[in-house]
Amino acid sequence: MDHLSLTTLSQVLQGRSMNIDSAAADVAGISIDSRTVQPGDLFFAIQGKRQDGHQFVGQALSQGATACVVKQGAVADDSSAPLLVVDNVNQALAGFAHWYRRQQTATVIGVTGSIGKTTTRNMIHSALAPYLKGVQSPANYNNEFGVPLSIAQLEKQHQYAVLELGASQTGEIRKLAQIASPEIGVISGIGPSHLEHFGTLQCTAEAKAELFEQLPASGLAIVNGDDRYADFLVSRSPAPAFRVGLSDDNDLRAAGVHRGESGLTFHVEGTEFVIPVVGKHFVYPALIAIAVGKILGLTSQELSDSLRAFQPVRGRCHVELIGDWTVVDDAYNSSPVSMRAACELLSEWPTTGKRVLVMGDMLELGPDSASYHYEIGKKIAGSPIEWLFVCGEQATAVVAGAVENQFPAGRVVQGVDIEEIQAEVYSRLEPGDVVLVKGSRGMRMERLIDYLQQQV
Ligand code: ATP
Ligand code: MG
Repeated sequence: MDHLSLTTLSQVLQGRSMNIDSAAADVAGISIDSRTVQPGDLFFAIQGKRQDGHQFVGQALSQGATACVVKQGAVADDSSAPLLVVDNVNQALAGFAHWYRRQQTATVIGVTGSIGKTTTRNMIHSALAPYLKGVQSPANYNNEFGVPLSIAQLEKQHQYAVLELGASQTGEIRKLAQIASPEIGVISGIGPSHLEHFGTLQCTAEAKAELFEQLPASGLAIVNGDDRYADFLVSRSPAPAFRVGLSDDNDLRAAGVHRGESGLTFHVEGTEFVIPVVGKHFVYPALIAIAVGKILGLTSQELSDSLRAFQPVRGRCHVELIGDWTVVDDAYNSSPVSMRAACELLSEWPTTGKRVLVMGDMLELGPDSASYHYEIGKKIAGSPIEWLFVCGEQATAVVAGAVENQFPAGRVVQGVDIEEIQAEVYSRLEPGDVVLVKGSRGMRMERLIDYLQQQV
């Protein structure tokens, strides 16, 4: 973050200063977690679901925070701590980010969608970073706290910021987009994720479209043109649309998509791209990254070179060799679209051993959850997958979908939690097998990967 004076910050936050020698006070960053406060940070005492940041004001100051932003009445009036007192700390954080973003000249790229936000954001950053100075949201920072913290990474020297915007409710993306005010909006795709909150796919599409609605007319709305909601999404944008995908009516198209020796291989406008990932679904994040790169002035060859070094993050189709097995760690999250993509990539995996799927529930799917799980079971039955391990409350629906469609019942193992069936998975594995592990975040399927690592 660019250094700011507390005098400026107290004006921006419309806060009342207490015990602040403004002449001396300089802020070098912001924090909402006292454990990771750096000297010079401004600590926002956020009221979270589980913790109240006001309890950690002392700790933040002892770690070197310049001052703390606190709620009126939450800290005693005779406190000697340097404070900026505001009406609402969460709003102050949003207000700060909104103001700070407007002090910056970087092009902001906002990424939302039901699936693949983090993947797309990473891919864009990987494509741009060797040539331009910029930042991306850390980890999965995509909510009312994560977006301001991501924006605070920006500095005058930066040319771009690629920010992930997430939502589990209508109206959230609008607020985040108002804070981030991106020039380039990206919607990675619409699918049944968080349906428990959104209700229907149409409502999900409307919630994601809020990003496009906030774009300036001079901006650009990039969309997965093969998505069935693409027309609807771009109809909401005052900015021109740019479609990417495989079908002919897209503005940027990938041709000849296949799994090559060094990874996903395809051509775009005559340039070959080779991306070291497994799974054809990565072609969409890649096309979006290429589109953003071209808009920012990079050549196809430059983008091909940078994407050749793309590294998937742990939990998202990350391939690991554990002993004699190949393990695809896709345990970060799951939803019907990404689960189908995972089945396909496992099916296409060239192996002399067995293809083993270890699947946990896809959570938050609302009243049709059982039928989504049944359909995945059916898909598994129609795929060259030899063993199915399934856990969670919806395991029975997956098993029914598989077995009723001729998946051999003797090669299915079902449990409530992964720890119940992990020994069974291990006992069935042989050298050369490929194991794909996937489930929603709450299922913590990565525990199986840790367990397998302990066995070798
Ligand atoms: P969250 O809402 O948890 O932040 P996200 O939108 O950031 O999720 P990712 O973490 O990037 O999504 O990806 C989730 C899963 O979806 C991963 O398994 C990833 O490989 C898969 N995925 C990414 N893009 C696509 C796509 N276009 N089609 C199918 N699956 C995809
Ligand atoms: Mg994410």
